[in-house]
Amino acid sequence: MLLTLIRILLGVDMALGFFNYTAWSWLAGHPFNVRLLCLSIFSTHFPDWDMIPYLLLRHRLISHWVIGHHPLLVLPLVAIASFCASTIWMPDAVDCIVGMASTGVFLHFAHDGMGKWGFPWLSPFSMTRFRFRGGKFSVVPQQEIDAWREQALLWKQREPSAMDEISVRTPTMTVAQLLFWAAGVIAVLVFIVEKSY
Ligand SMILES: [Zn+2]
Repeated sequence: MLLTLIRILLGVDMALGFFNYTAWSWLAGHPFNVRLLCLSIFSTHFPDWDMIPYLLLRHRLISHWVIGHHPLLVLPLVAIASFCASTIWMPDAVDCIVGMASTGVFLHFAHDGMGKWGFPWLSPFSMTRFRFRGGKFSVVPQQEIDAWREQALLWKQREPSAMDEISVRTPTMTVAQLLFWAAGVIAVLVFIVEKSY
């Protein structure tokens, strides 16, 4: 449990949240704002909140990509929702908030798409999976997806607990990942120091 939490806190999506925050605040010329930093971190994790309905229905499903992982539906919804919320919440930062929330969700999808099984970029209109690996963008062959489904079904037969389901989705940390995370923290710190002078 603790290890899983540490992996999430030091994860790639967390680092993407730091970079996304720094880039948009710097572009928009905003001072440091902890609420915007939290919003950015929230956006780079947002699609994975579909783990909650998945855990409730996990005996019937093999993937948690049921609600949050439809880019052509989720990205416009996030843009519209963040626009409406920011006009009330922070009317002086509407552009920054819409850009930051949408980019944060996009970065999450891009990170998912780096994996072996790719990402359905045209979902919900097409479930074709695309992946970006070794500098190439390609369609994941159907045989590979079928093999993955078979593996997933075998895993399901072992009746994994909710905790098993979460921990299997939080991969072991690598040195490269930790360096990326540290670079994200440094980017935020440099931004804070620069804005305080
Ligand atoms: Zn995801």
